[in-house]
Amino acid sequence: MTLQEEAPTPARAPGEALVVLDHVDKWFGDLHVLQDINLTVTRGEVVVVIGPSGSGKSTLCRTINRLETIDQGSISLDGEPLPEEGKELARLRAEVGMVFQSFNLFAHKTILENVTLGPIKVRKQSKADAEKRAKELLDRVGVGHQAAKYPAQLSGGQQQRVAIARALAMEPKVMLFDEPTSALDPEMIKEVLDVMVDLAQGGMTMIVVTHEMGFARTAADRVVFMADGAIAEENTPEEFFTNPQSARAQDFLGKIL
Ligand code: ADP
Ligand code: MG
Repeated sequence: MTLQEEAPTPARAPGEALVVLDHVDKWFGDLHVLQDINLTVTRGEVVVVIGPSGSGKSTLCRTINRLETIDQGSISLDGEPLPEEGKELARLRAEVGMVFQSFNLFAHKTILENVTLGPIKVRKQSKADAEKRAKELLDRVGVGHQAAKYPAQLSGGQQQRVAIARALAMEPKVMLFDEPTSALDPEMIKEVLDVMVDLAQGGMTMIVVTHEMGFARTAADRVVFMADGAIAEENTPEEFFTNPQSARAQDFLGKIL
């Protein structure tokens, strides 16, 4: 079975605003790291964020699950402003799945435990329910037979697929990926991208920071290009890659393509 067949029915129709950043500014000391960011991601949309190193892509992702605070503007998820603290913040973190460059699995827990921990602790699922669901998700990302192992016993590509399953187990409204394949050996990149493409085709709302142009062309509805903390350009992947408008985007694409 594919992730597509398994995708939950969206609570509301596709096309509605799910993540909205409205005039967001953030500083790190003197560094204006996010500059008047306006971005609306609709339900079911896949947005690829690209741009040079240091342009603010990771910071942007981190503000959406409030790993970073913002100084001005507002961010909402599914019509609600992001909660500041407490239980509501824990719920937000569950609703915004995040997959990082470094897989960040719990080293001293098995693969199965890595996936069941959040659903049991945060979603208050029974151990039996959480394990059943975790096994389904691990099967779906192709590592079901590794459930009893520890992260260090798996390849990087397998660990990253576990990290995706772990985020999915929380039934997030949106998935954020911050350069999920950058730390992987080349032969493992495709197995992770395939899972992400499957997820995208299944209707998951996704914000993906990546330089994988093949993924962007296959799966993205929109490419957002960041430079120096601002959104310099956004377009369909087709238009963006064949006909970039800004000098910054032309220069960047010239270096990576
Ligand atoms: P990207 O992901 O596009 O490479 P980042 O969002 O990681 O960019 O970083 C944007 C800028 O903010 C960089 O100049 C980086 O050094 C700086 N930065 C990131 N995190 C912090 C922090 N916690 N404190 C100070 N500066 C930071
Ligand atoms: Mg980054």
